[in-house]
Order: sequence, then C-alpha cells, then structure tokens
Amino acid sequence: MAQIINGKEIAQTIKDEMRIEVEELKKAGKSCCLAVIQVGDDPASSVYVSNKKKACAYIGIDSLSYELPEETTEEELLALIDKLNLDEAVHGILCQLPLPRHINEKTILNRISPKKDVDGFHPQNVGALVVGDFGFVSCTPAGVIQLLKRSNVEMEGKNCVVIGRSNIVGKPMALLMLRENATVTICHSKTKNLKEICKEADILIVAIGKPKFINKDYVKEGAVVIDVGIHRDENNKLCGDVDYADVEPLCSAITPVPGGVGPMTICMLMKNCLEAMKYYS
Ligand code: NAP
Repeated sequence: MAQIINGKEIAQTIKDEMRIEVEELKKAGKSCCLAVIQVGDDPASSVYVSNKKKACAYIGIDSLSYELPEETTEEELLALIDKLNLDEAVHGILCQLPLPRHINEKTILNRISPKKDVDGFHPQNVGALVVGDFGFVSCTPAGVIQLLKRSNVEMEGKNCVVIGRSNIVGKPMALLMLRENATVTICHSKTKNLKEICKEADILIVAIGKPKFINKDYVKEGAVVIDVGIHRDENNKLCGDVDYADVEPLCSAITPVPGGVGPMTICMLMKNCLEAMKYYS
C-alpha cells in the first residue's frame, strides 16, 4: 500500500504554524498585508481570490481587495501596481491570472516589485532561484517541496523526473529539486521515450496538464509520484494528470487529487507574504 501524501493536512499544519507566528509578530506591533487584484469577473478566478482572502483571514494576514472591471486598461492597472509598490503597509501584491486579453500579462507581472512578488513570477525572483539567492519561489512547486520534506521523502541523490516545463510549475520545480540535490530530468512535449525516462524515476513529478495521462506503464515500482494536475473528468469529478487507481498500487507514496498538491499552493502564497514582510520591511 502506498503512503498517501495528505496535502490538506500538511497545508493545515503550515497554516497553523504561520498563525502562531503572525500572532507573535502582532504582539511586537508588526502586521502583514497582501493586496489581491482581480480584473473582470471570471468565476474560477473569483473562487481562487476568495480562497486566498479566506486563508489570509485564518492566518491573520490583512488583505486588501481590488476588484476591477473587465474594461480596466493596462495603464490603469499599472498605475494601481505602482501605487501598491510604494505603499509600505503592503507586503505582497498578487494579480490574479488570467487577465483580460487586452492586457499584457508579462508587462503587468514584471511591474510588481520583486520585493512584493509573492507569486514568484518576476524574472528577478526566477533568477534568484537559478543562482541560489534569496527570492520568492512559485507557490505550487514550493508546495511540492514541502510535501516531500514533511512526508520524509529523501530527495538527495534520487532520480527525479519532472514532466512539464512551464514557467509556473515545471521549470521552478526542476530547479528546486536540483537545490535539494536530486538528479533531475525535465520532460516536455518533444521528449522522446517518455515512458522509458519516467520508468527510471525514484520521484516522478507530473505537471503535464492532461487528465489521467500517466498510468502504471510510466511508473517504476516503489516510486514516489506527485500529481500537480487538476481537471474535471467525464463525471465532473476532480482528477489529476495521473491515473491514480492504476498507479497507486505500484508506488511507495503518492499525492491524491483533490487533497494533494492543490491545498499547498495558497499555503505557500501565505508563506511568501510573511517572508516578504519579515525580509523587506
Ligand atoms: P502547461 O503550461 O500547460 O504545461 C504543460 C507542460 O507539459 C508543457 O511544458 C508541455 O510541453 C508538457 N507536455 C504536454 N504534453 C506533453 C506530452 N505528451 N509529453 C510530455 N510533456 C508534455 O501547464 P502548467 O501550468 O505547468 O500546469 C500543469 C498542470 O498542473 C495542469 O493540470 C494545471 O491545471 C495544474 N496546476 C495545478 C496547480 C495547483 O495548485 N494544484 C497550480 C498550477 C497548475 P511543451 O512545453 O513542450 O509544450
């Protein structure tokens, strides 16, 4: 039987740790504040934004909410970011993606001060990860590292295969595993012999964006499998990039969907916000 890596439980533990820390900081007269910007009213974005605000409230982080209309111009959004960058009471700025098509995402994300870039998307923070300096790390891959550490999965010297090379998940994930001294292979849509490469993995991290794509043919017996994917299947049930029922009997440990990687993302966002306050204010 595989160890089920319980992301919900681990995320709760980390949130409770932060809650205690924030309480202590408040006693010392310090508070932490996250500004959350949403442009338009995409229903999925509204759910994410609401969950982020709830997590802030639970931990004791203040949150400022900017709900802007769909017609907001790029210049108006940039002006708001400039204002928040200068506001000393604001420690983290988050701009919920996707943005409406008339707004250039890259221009917006690059305008957020790297010191307040709690999503870890700014090139300066990405560069810091590459060279091993302090910086904010993209929340989902940072959450995966926490899951592995807190489940006592040894990473050093292990063969790790990451499927996916997106800027948000795959690339930072591979860099983080390298930082943990794993031997890392990155696979993508042009990779040849994907099955053979995956079969060599002691730790297989899947961020391919295709429901139930990875079955037991890709997994070595005793491997640790981390499923970053999140989808709705034909019965409208949540599922991941991994065919859980097929793969689970083979693994030594696996993350379920839901309740695996998902709950860690917001948790790491909160952690980044707290770090921003401690490190830069
Ligand atoms: P993405 O931008 O679509 O990237 C998918 C990656 O998979 C790309 O690098 C792509 O390669 C690669 N790929 C596609 N087909 C492949 C194939 N047949 N063989 C090998 N590689 C293949 O997705 P993402 O943003 O990284 O997200 C990945 C998954 O994680 C999605 O299911 C997403 O919903 C989920 N996600 C979850 C969370 C969370 O909080 N749990 C957060 C973010 C994302 P190319 O680069 O060559 O195109």
